Amino acid sequence: MKTLIKNGLVVLEDGPVSADLLIDGETIAAIGKADEICGAGKEEAAADCRVIDASGLIVLPGGIDPHTHFNIMTSVRSVDDFTSGTVSAVFGGTTTIIDHMGFGPKGCDLHHQFQVYKEYTEGKCVADYGFHGVYQDLDEQILEETASMVDEGLSSFKMYLTYDYRQSDEEAIRILKRLGELSGMTTVHCENHAILTWLREKFLAEGKTEAKYHPLSRPPYCETEAVDRMIDLAMAAGDQPLYIVHVSAGESAERIRQARQAGQKVFGETCTQYLVLDDSVYDDPQEGLKFIMSPPIRGKEHQEILWQALRDGTLLVVATDHCSFDYHGDKQMGKEDFTKCPNGAPGAELRMPILFSEGVSKGRLDLTTFAKVTSTNAAKLFGMYPKKGTIRVGSDADLVLFDPEREVDITRLILHDNTDYTPYEGMHVKGWPILTMIRGTVVVENERLQVKPGFGNFLRRGKSICDL
Ligand SMILES: [Zn+2]
Repeated sequence: MKTLIKNGLVVLEDGPVSADLLIDGETIAAIGKADEICGAGKEEAAADCRVIDASGLIVLPGGIDPHTHFNIMTSVRSVDDFTSGTVSAVFGGTTTIIDHMGFGPKGCDLHHQFQVYKEYTEGKCVADYGFHGVYQDLDEQILEETASMVDEGLSSFKMYLTYDYRQSDEEAIRILKRLGELSGMTTVHCENHAILTWLREKFLAEGKTEAKYHPLSRPPYCETEAVDRMIDLAMAAGDQPLYIVHVSAGESAERIRQARQAGQKVFGETCTQYLVLDDSVYDDPQEGLKFIMSPPIRGKEHQEILWQALRDGTLLVVATDHCSFDYHGDKQMGKEDFTKCPNGAPGAELRMPILFSEGVSKGRLDLTTFAKVTSTNAAKLFGMYPKKGTIRVGSDADLVLFDPEREVDITRLILHDNTDYTPYEGMHVKGWPILTMIRGTVVVENERLQVKPGFGNFLRRGKSICDL
């Protein structure tokens, strides 16, 4: 099966060009002008090829969201499983997700959760997918076991500096060293556990239990202290690669910029919500529950710093941290006490549309940077490049066609996840994905899903590319 995508503006790694794309089977076979790349006249090409007219459309590499939590078990289970989660992702132009696995039972080995997640995903996904391993109890055996996980395609791991399974500084150094030896990537959730615990308990003792105390209990410095410390620990471990998930505070981005300027292999991720929402979302004690996530939504002054950091390559990836709970369901556990509210919000479907609208349409990001931060950089850092994350001959034909003129008013009703709300209700966007293709197969067209759960493949990821 061949497909010819004609007349689009194709975003290559060096920039956008007017070109036609020939797809043969699962991969991109040629990039150029239809007459040349089909090797014959247009009529002959049309006979054995499906032709998609992309006039007026922008052809981008399919998105990679390297930070989701589908079907995760916390105090309660999240409402999007790997079917609704990946369906919502592909409607938004994301063709690959990497899920951060949840913790397993105390004392379990690394493969325990891998096995659990194989069961969660078997026959369920419509997007291609992988997993980040997760450290909980750390000892020599776990560090040893890391090698076989990397061999099996989980070449990145997450550690936490807060929650029950937080790692100490000593443990963090050992993890960084071990993953560095294995050419893997250490990802880290940076918040200072002592600061947030102290402030949370102080607020509770004072009867301050409304949603607005959630961000106040996790101030920007609570994040930045941990970012700062991790950067130094990565240096001490032998200048090992370090990926900092969900950077929300401007000061954290500044610290990452300094480290990168000094030549350190530090990579920052932010998420859609930190770029476009501000802490006024917590003003209403009820509605505020929708936005309880960690780190919290920051003051408006942080937004421009994060946009600038995306433009100048300080922050390299925009992800979502999609982890959804129903507002009329489990989020209400936080009604009388914000500390009881399950943390997280949905976002996989709107990541690319919102970033396109607020970034590209509003002139904050050029198309080349947009493609890098939504796809290419994650493919490189997480060992999938050049199979994923780029439009070039031989790469998987994972594509999204954006109509830059289409305007949409966002409401929960048009989305495809299982959550009963969206944090972006009422937002107006310009630019919308109208066709998504994975490995040469159209998965979304005419606002309909064209494949069945199980279409998505598990991605055995390789070594990280760190020179970016
Ligand atoms: Zn997360």
